[in-house]
Amino acid sequence: MSNVRPQPRPGVLSISAYVPGKSGAPGVAKVFKLSSNESPLGPSPKAVEAYRSVAEHLEDYPDGASTRLREAIGAVYGLDPDRIICGAGSDDLLNLIARAYLADGDEAIHSQYGFLVYPIATMGTGAKPVSVPEKNLTTDVDGILAAVTPRTKVIFLANPNNPTGTYIPYDEVKRLHRGLRPDILLVLDAAYAEYVSRNDYSTGLELVAESDNVVMCRTFSKIYALAGLRLGWMVGPAHIVDAVNRVRGPFNVGAPAIEAGIAAVRDAEHVERSRAHNDRWLPWLSEEIAKLGLTVTPSVGNFFLIHFPAEGGKTAQAADAFLTSRGLVLRSVASYGLPNALRMSVGGEEANRLVVAALAEFMAG
Ligand SMILES: *Cc1c(COP(=O)(O)O)cnc(C)c1O
Repeated sequence: MSNVRPQPRPGVLSISAYVPGKSGAPGVAKVFKLSSNESPLGPSPKAVEAYRSVAEHLEDYPDGASTRLREAIGAVYGLDPDRIICGAGSDDLLNLIARAYLADGDEAIHSQYGFLVYPIATMGTGAKPVSVPEKNLTTDVDGILAAVTPRTKVIFLANPNNPTGTYIPYDEVKRLHRGLRPDILLVLDAAYAEYVSRNDYSTGLELVAESDNVVMCRTFSKIYALAGLRLGWMVGPAHIVDAVNRVRGPFNVGAPAIEAGIAAVRDAEHVERSRAHNDRWLPWLSEEIAKLGLTVTPSVGNFFLIHFPAEGGKTAQAADAFLTSRGLVLRSVASYGLPNALRMSVGGEEANRLVVAALAEFMAG
């Protein structure tokens, strides 16, 4: 065999593959998966019904343009369906944006604890991910502006951010945008927007509408609870929608996802129930866990970071093992550079109470 062989493009072999949250606990009968920010209430029953109805017609290709879904999203969010693109999760859209706007030698900026898909999507294009340190586990707008170079093409901003659960106010998003050259694309990832109830927060749809260089990605994986179907959407100016559509797979969203998505986005009551559940349990969990002497990062999402001592017997790793042995599966965030924290997704009442009781036992043990 020759030692000349196909080589992936520069950067590809430097990618550390995304590590998803664990889903099992070996040997434990009842497992509560609190590791991937999934909704404890599950999807709208109407979405499940719509999904099932597609089983009668699996031989048909889906509508490659997801037209009815874009219209349904447009009607709910007050957007022009022509400015919307649907994707197989926001992952798909983030990768398409990277593919359309980044090339070898370009730079894309993300925040230190930003979503790991950003550097992965960036490196897949041969561009360089630039990570900007956070202040107090929060995006630092001045830091991002200072990191911009002539090679910067894209800024990825998750607001609220995962895994920290923190957010920056809309004024800060606008200040970031004002400070950018007009040829830099600002990607706002508002995956958890529906959970946020702060007066100074905005998803930034207004900024998208009035700018030539801002897009927003949204997902059906979180409050809509359709993570298993892989569905997301983005909205942006016509010229960006045109470019991204050119690199999009012609049938990138399956028919079951399209139908379930239409039903889910229209079921405002179900979204409201999920939000109300989170509004009740996020503060309860944060307070109860803080009472145990653990630091909880204030979160506006459906998850939060719990910080453990770096040394001794009460480390994040020890807590993870202890909780897992009880079927309580949280998320290690070591791959995000947070080895002393675990991320917990807000679960159902039973899971939430069990975690607090188990952590109390762990800390007392
Ligand atoms: C979960 C999440 C998403 C959603 O990803 P999908 O591919 O749509 O499942 C996007 N951005 C962030 C920051 C997330 O945490």
